Amino acid sequence: MKIYLNKDANLENIKEILNKHNIYFELQLGDNTPIVVVDDLYLRDIKCYLNQSDISKVSPIYDLKYVLRLNKNDDTIIDIKGHKIGGGNTLLIAGPCAVEEKESMKSIALAVKKSGADVLRGGAFKPRTNPYSYQGLNEEGLKILSEAGEYANLPVISEITDLRYLDSFIKYVDIIQVGARNMQNFALLEELGNIDKPILLKRGFNNTIEELLCSAEYIMKNGNQQVILCERGIRTPLSYTRNTLDLSAVAVLKELTHLPIIVDPSHSTGKRKLVIPMAKAALTVGADGLIIEASINPNFASSDAEQTIDIEDLKQLRKL
Ligand code: PEP
Ligand code: MN
Repeated sequence: MKIYLNKDANLENIKEILNKHNIYFELQLGDNTPIVVVDDLYLRDIKCYLNQSDISKVSPIYDLKYVLRLNKNDDTIIDIKGHKIGGGNTLLIAGPCAVEEKESMKSIALAVKKSGADVLRGGAFKPRTNPYSYQGLNEEGLKILSEAGEYANLPVISEITDLRYLDSFIKYVDIIQVGARNMQNFALLEELGNIDKPILLKRGFNNTIEELLCSAEYIMKNGNQQVILCERGIRTPLSYTRNTLDLSAVAVLKELTHLPIIVDPSHSTGKRKLVIPMAKAALTVGADGLIIEASINPNFASSDAEQTIDIEDLKQLRKL
């Protein structure tokens, strides 16, 4: 972040304050006015510590208008059919990786509801690495998910993979999920910015925190301010887990943005046993919610069975 100071700002005093608070900074001279460069993490601290009359402009490294806490201090609270997220409200999303057939999906929905979760998840269009892996029930899956949600009185979320299906998503789901593989599908993001529905934006597994914020800005700049961010693990050389859950990203994002942030301990670990411990850790660092793959018979799930927890384990989460 660059802090442009006024010509007559008391530089010595500013240096003293930054040093006192252990804030690492660099000084630059731009057009005769000093510029203090500090990490974006200190956005809020700087606003408190420095004398506002010394500052002419604060510019984050990425000049984003909507997404940054710098421009809107209060947490964004999003209401999904009466279930709130953000500003101290925690949202628990749970359900199978892929939507199951109708009767089974209705039973899962009821069990998810009884476990205390707020939103039912289920993928209808599955983005699979191998083109011969199970691809989901597509349009029919969205209908089943919607019916199951209504049956159990739960709002529903599903992942959109292509703009061609947007009308069906608007009709059948309450939150539209943009998956890790589409985080930088800018045409898709722009279009989701024109609709009035909450969007769950997952961080791509090779993307930085700044890139995630830029992608959220693509949605918000077109009008839709209902964006929930999701940390779902990134690619690292570590291979024991499916991905590496970057929990520090949650703490950083809480500083940089007013948007709610949820964590996906299922896709980040890829292992059933790790889901509850990492869910606890996520809430401890300040996550506003969780998205969990859960089902009645996890071993028979049509995709991601190995990371899907059962309903008994899911019930533990509401007690956290
Ligand atoms: C999912 O949530 O079903 C999914 C595919 O997740 P991700 O985009 O994080 O891989
Ligand atoms: Mn999955």
